[in-house]
Amino acid sequence: MASLISFEEALELADISSQEDISELVERAWAVRTDRFGDSTDMCSLVNAKSGGCAEDCGFCAQSRYAEADTPMHAMMEPDQILEHARAAEAAGAHRFCMVTQGQGLSKRDFAKIEAGAKLVAEQTNLKRCVSIGHISPDRARRLKDAGIQRVHHNVETARSYYEEVTTTVRYEGRMRTIDAVKDAGLETCVGGILNLGESPRQRVEMAFELSAVNPTSVPINLLNPRTGTKFGGRDLMDPWEVVKWVAIFRLIIPDALFRLCGGRVENLDELQPLAVKAGLNGVMMGNFLTTLGAEPADDRAMFEELGLNVARQEDNGANPRPDNRDGWLDGETPRTPVDELIDCQGEANFWDPSTQLRVIKKKQNPPPYPKAA
Ligand code: SF4
Repeated sequence: MASLISFEEALELADISSQEDISELVERAWAVRTDRFGDSTDMCSLVNAKSGGCAEDCGFCAQSRYAEADTPMHAMMEPDQILEHARAAEAAGAHRFCMVTQGQGLSKRDFAKIEAGAKLVAEQTNLKRCVSIGHISPDRARRLKDAGIQRVHHNVETARSYYEEVTTTVRYEGRMRTIDAVKDAGLETCVGGILNLGESPRQRVEMAFELSAVNPTSVPINLLNPRTGTKFGGRDLMDPWEVVKWVAIFRLIIPDALFRLCGGRVENLDELQPLAVKAGLNGVMMGNFLTTLGAEPADDRAMFEELGLNVARQEDNGANPRPDNRDGWLDGETPRTPVDELIDCQGEANFWDPSTQLRVIKKKQNPPPYPKAA
């Protein structure tokens, strides 16, 4: 996947700060996005199917046992609970649904529940199916494909050179092995990271070029939502114009990936979310995030429609790729489905809701200190 700018050019763009210069960069990124993807979009939504008490030490994550932060705690959901949240995602207008679990590996029993949940979502909704379940062996990747999963998410989180500041217990090499297993099984990859973990601008550019080398179908960009009690809980939010600038820079470095903005977008961008869409996004994560709340579906759809983008859900979403899938464009136009059949507010459907749906347990004992980077 050829980048449209060099590493040095990306560093120069990282230096710009005036709103005028960033607006100019946005126009450039918008042209690239529309050239590659036309008016199509790729909207997703998730369920945190197993949450809290994770053994790993990712410094941004409230689910880590090293974090002294409140987090939803629950064992693996049953397949029909997963289906219920998928139906909410579908009602909101999401095109795809991701089943996410904490940690880096599932027990046989929990993996079987993900397989059963995936089959139910495939049979009973018109959603494309994704999972994010940590490290995956080649055998499990094939089984996921057999269960109807089409895309697997596994972030690199940050630049290789900054990685050990972010986690010492989840190996970077293990991530790469999982991504290879997913590709070998013929599944699409969704690989991205989180901005504002303390990485330098150069390291942000490094991450973008490392992602470009991975060549994922989809790239989720998360923005740190500093949660009190986590390793990075004391950091400030990003300046919204900085976020927009970095979305545009990533778009120019990885022009053919499907970019989506996920965790932290509401807190970091606020009113500037539509400009971030213009800076090169193909979609956003609708509904709620793993441990924090998201936006209302009608507002998310409007952000894209106001730019002339088509958020319609295609009738055969589950069986065929929409034109948002760079692996193959369908013939003809993407039909527009009537949006008045969709819900406007989260309250109208049973979304995954980390704040009220499940018990939030305050950790009773002091968590262990975060391990130091080597
Ligand atoms: S990001 Fe995933 S692996 Fe890391 S602490 Fe959170 S739940 Fe665990």
